[in-house]
Amino acid sequence: TEILAIESSCDETAAAVVRDGRVIISSVVASQMSSHERFGGVVPEVASRAHVEQISLVVDEALQKADRTLSELQAIAVTSGPGLIGALFVGVTAAKTLAQVAGLPIIDVHHLAGHMYAAALSDGVEPPFIALIVSGGHTELLQVNAGGEIIRLGKTRDDAAGEVFDKIARALELGYPGGPLIQQLASQGDPEYFDFPQAKLGDHSFDFSFSGLKSAVLLHLDRAKKSSQPLRKADIAASFQRAVVAALIAKTREALLQTGLDTLVVAGGVAANLALRDAAKSLCEELGIRLAVPDFWLCTDNAAMIGAAAYMRYKQRKLADLTLTGRAEFSIDQW
Ligand code: ATP
Ligand code: MG
Ligand code: FE
Repeated sequence: TEILAIESSCDETAAAVVRDGRVIISSVVASQMSSHERFGGVVPEVASRAHVEQISLVVDEALQKADRTLSELQAIAVTSGPGLIGALFVGVTAAKTLAQVAGLPIIDVHHLAGHMYAAALSDGVEPPFIALIVSGGHTELLQVNAGGEIIRLGKTRDDAAGEVFDKIARALELGYPGGPLIQQLASQGDPEYFDFPQAKLGDHSFDFSFSGLKSAVLLHLDRAKKSSQPLRKADIAASFQRAVVAALIAKTREALLQTGLDTLVVAGGVAANLALRDAAKSLCEELGIRLAVPDFWLCTDNAAMIGAAAYMRYKQRKLADLTLTGRAEFSIDQW
């Protein structure tokens, strides 16, 4: 089974051809990074326009690289949400048009499910598992049952993990996107330099909260800038990164222990973070369970991951139709 997948939920226009949810035949990602860099974040209207300009080119290139025509494929998958509504419309409209022209079924893919199934491309992992999804806009702890049914155990109550990386990076004047830059700087710093507070939610929930940590780091930075001492940016970055990773791992450990599942998937842009990958590896070794993480380049937005998630649906014959539309808000347990 070969599926053409399209992703346009945020600031990358992407298309891929994926076989059986496992093999990437082609994958094209056109990043708009340079268009948004000077704003220090993604500007929705700029993103929509860039998607309109890129989408046909990107789809054609993915087909060309795969050496396939549309009629040789079995389905067209597209991210319908969550994301920027104008950006989503571009991908969904393209997918519906192509499906109509080629007479192919449409598969509706949730963006975070895509991030999660990126691990299947790198590792072959299949549910059941616990998934920690950490991206630019989301932080979720999921239980995925054998049939692919998703139960959300917890989510962030405020900022997403990637969002705090980006905000702290901006405060440290590192640039955008912040995650990789913080990681780089942190590698030269002392993670024990400062003990930033972690959220205490005061209940047994699996929810995360990063706004307290964010405020603590910003406050520390503010004070440090006013003092006469040299600013220890690398130490602050390393200490911040340690705190984020510890918070993510603590809840993930609880979820694994409580459910007794023997596989952990860590996915989303922040799953590219080496400190997080190391901590997840240690946790899984300690618990004697399997860890599946996507290859680095499959952690951030791409369409191959959408093709991987789509295959789960295709096998179950869960197809969408031409009424499919973009959804800015789309809870993963509604997928
Ligand atoms: P969402 O998937 O929630 O809609 P998104 O698609 O914008 O958001 P992704 O592409 O999944 O987000 O991930 C981008 C995020 O990952 C950014 O916040 C970026 O800073 C972060 N990130 C990327 N690499 C790293 C890294 N090495 N360490 C920490 N964070 C990272
Ligand atoms: Mg992006
Ligand atoms: Fe994403």
